Amino acid sequence: KLPVIVIAGRPNVGKSTLFNRLAGRRFAIVSDQPGVTRDRKSVDILLNDRSVTLIDTAGWEEDDPETVHGRMRISSERAVDMADVILFCVDARMGITPVDEHFAQWLRKQGRKILLVVNKAEGHSGNVAALEMYKFGFGEPIPVSAEHGEGIMDLVDRIEVEL
Ligand code: GDP
Ligand code: MG
Repeated sequence: KLPVIVIAGRPNVGKSTLFNRLAGRRFAIVSDQPGVTRDRKSVDILLNDRSVTLIDTAGWEEDDPETVHGRMRISSERAVDMADVILFCVDARMGITPVDEHFAQWLRKQGRKILLVVNKAEGHSGNVAALEMYKFGFGEPIPVSAEHGEGIMDLVDRIEVEL
């Protein structure tokens, strides 16, 4: 069984963009696996010569505020249960939102290795915003721009340390 890396976080932080970036042409895709559920994508990739299974979660993408946390848990739970490393993604431009805090609190109880990925951190202001994210207590925030491909090699190196 390959190490499992799960990309998690609230909607719109750029999880799927990061998934595509990591699964993109700079990283050889070694095999493809149909998504286990309709809202989960999984792919086996090489990160610095190590094969891992990367999973994108999309379980919070419901509009109903009454059920957002419940749905988040149900659909992220199974992926998080399988995770060797969780990439908890937040948004440098939006800063920390109550939903981020709620999810962080839940994640902390799952007993998994967590890397804090601060996406949309392109440019200097992004790096400054990333510093704010220390307050999550998940260690040194990793600023990236999934869209522009910045910080991705640093992220890959940080993942490798956890494997
Ligand atoms: P998800 O809901 O967490 O999967 O987020 P998506 O990957 O669908 O991205 C949500 C939005 O954020 C899209 O409009 C993306 O183009 C945008 N986005 C993703 N990554 C970045 C980034 O690095 N910088 C900026 N500025 N926008 C981004
Ligand atoms: Mg998505």
